[in-house]
Amino acid sequence: MPTTVRRRCPPAPRAPRLRHVPRGDGRLTHEIDPDDKRPQDACGVFGVWAPGEDVAKLSYYGLYALQHRGQESAGIAVGDGKAILVYKDMGLVSQVFDERTLSSLVGHVAVGHCRYSTTGSSRWENAQPTLAPTTEGTIALGHNGNLTNSHELADIIARRSEGVSRDAVMRGNTTDTALITALLGSHPDASLEDAAVDDLALLRGAFSLVFADESTLFAARDPQGIRPLVLGRLERGWVVASETAALDIVGASLVREIEPGELVAVDRGGLRTRRFAPAEPRGCLFEFVYLARPDTRISDRSVHAARVDVGRRLAVEHPAEADMVIPVPESGTPAAVGYAEASGIPFGSGLVKNSYVGRTFIQPSQTIRQLGIRLKLNPLREVIEGKRLVVVDDSIVRGNTQRALVRMLREAGATQIHVRISSPPVKWPCFYGIDFATRAELIANGLDTEEIRRHIGADSLGYISLEALTESTHVPAGLLCRACFNGEYPVALPDEALRGKHALEQPALPLDDPADAAAAPGPAQPMLGQQEPVDAADGLPVLVGGAGGGDALSRP
Ligand code: SF4
Repeated sequence: MPTTVRRRCPPAPRAPRLRHVPRGDGRLTHEIDPDDKRPQDACGVFGVWAPGEDVAKLSYYGLYALQHRGQESAGIAVGDGKAILVYKDMGLVSQVFDERTLSSLVGHVAVGHCRYSTTGSSRWENAQPTLAPTTEGTIALGHNGNLTNSHELADIIARRSEGVSRDAVMRGNTTDTALITALLGSHPDASLEDAAVDDLALLRGAFSLVFADESTLFAARDPQGIRPLVLGRLERGWVVASETAALDIVGASLVREIEPGELVAVDRGGLRTRRFAPAEPRGCLFEFVYLARPDTRISDRSVHAARVDVGRRLAVEHPAEADMVIPVPESGTPAAVGYAEASGIPFGSGLVKNSYVGRTFIQPSQTIRQLGIRLKLNPLREVIEGKRLVVVDDSIVRGNTQRALVRMLREAGATQIHVRISSPPVKWPCFYGIDFATRAELIANGLDTEEIRRHIGADSLGYISLEALTESTHVPAGLLCRACFNGEYPVALPDEALRGKHALEQPALPLDDPADAAAAPGPAQPMLGQQEPVDAADGLPVLVGGAGGGDALSRP
C-alpha cells in the first residue's frame, strides 16, 4: 500500500525585522557632511502689505529667496481686513505650497516664514507663522532669532491670564516665538500696536519679527539688531524681509534697514514708525561669513564683496607657495576668488558639488558610508593631479569635513594642500538664533591651529584674523556681535539650565526629527591630553573634541 510521505519544508528564514525609518524627504541641503554641520540659520521672515496685489504669491517668492535660512517648515498667513488665514507645513517652500493653496490665501496683508529650529523641535506645531487671539482680533507672527529670557515671558503671560498657571502657559508654547505671540495677545486693553511697543521692550535676545493682524503689517527688530531685517517699497505697497535679496526677487526697492529697537506699522494710513527701545547695534558678523546670501547687502555693504575682500586679506595674512587656488563650493568661492586675485595664484574649480543630494533618512550601506563626502563632492583629478593646492573654505566646525576633503584631494593626486579659512576659529556657541555645534564639539575650542592642521592632515592651515574679517565688512567692531569668535556676548545669557533648543519643552516630549534627536546631549567627548588615538583609515591623529567638554556654555 502506497504511503504518502509528507515532507516538511524547512521553515522559511524569517526576514530581519526592519526598524522603522522615515522616508527620505529629498530636501535640498548644502551640508557636505551631515555629522559636521555648518552653522544653521534660524529662519527667514517676509511680510507684505499691498492692496490689489497677490500677497500670498509675493510671500511665496520672497520665502523662496530666503530658503537658505530655514528648510524645515514654511508658512504664510494672509489677512483680508476681516480674518486671517494661515497655511503651514513641514518641508521646503516649494513642497508646502502649490497653486491651489496659494490661491486660497486671499487678502492685502501677508506674513511668511521658513524655519530652521533653534528653539523647540522640528515639528508641525512649531512651524510659523504662529497665531494668537488679541483683544481686537488675531495676530500672526514670524520670528528670526532666539530669545534669552523666554522663561520670564511665560511668567508675565501667566500673571496676565487669570486662572492660567505658568505650567499651562509653557505646555502650550514650546518655542520662544509662540511665547512672543501669546505675550502680545495677552496684553490687556490695548491695540496691537500699543501692546507691541510695551511688550517688545520686555524681550531679550535676538528677534527680527514680522507680524500682522487682519489689516496691518508690523515689523520689529531687537535693540541690538542682531539678525537682519529690511524694508522695501513696491509700486503699490510695502515689503519687509530678512535679506535684501528677497526684495530684489519680488521687484521691491530697498528703502532701508529696520532700525534696532524700532517698530514699523503699515496700514491704510501709511507707514508709521515707533521706538520701543534705544538702539545698541550689534549685528551678527557670521551673516557676512556664511549665513546671508552673497547677493544680499547688510549695513550698505555687499556680502559678496565682503567675502572676496576677506579672501584678499587671507592671502596677505597666510600666503602659500602653490599652483592653484580652489574653493570648497559654493560657500568658499568668493573668498577663493579674492585669495587668487591677491596672491596671483590661478583660480580653478577642483571640486564638483552635487547640489541635489537631498537630506535623506535612508541608512547608507557600509560601502556608501565609506564614500563619505564623495556623495556631495567629487574631485576633478585632471585639474588637481600633481598640483600644490590652496583650498579655501568658510569655516571649520568639527573638522571632519576638512579632514575627509584633504584625504580625498591627496588620493586624487594633489602634492600639497594648504587649507585657508575665511573666518577666525569658531570657539563659542551662538545663543542668538544660529544653531552651532555644542562647545565641546567645536574643534577650535581647546585645539590650537597646529593641532587642527594635524587633525585634518593639511600641509598648512591659516584662519583669517578677527580684525581683518571685521574690516572687510566696513562695519566698526563695536557695532558687531562677534561672540562665536571672541566669547563676548552682547546680550546677557540665560542660566545654563534654561539654554538649548529643547529648553521650553517637557522632558518627555518625543523628538520627531532624527536631527533633533542627534542634537540631544550625548556622551562626553574625549578630552585633549588623553592618549592620542590614530585613525586606522588614514593614520592621522584623532583629535576631535576640544577642552570645553565640561564647559558651562555647552548646550544641546
Ligand atoms: S554669536 Fe556668532 S553667529 Fe551668533 S549672533 Fe554673534 S556673531 Fe552671529
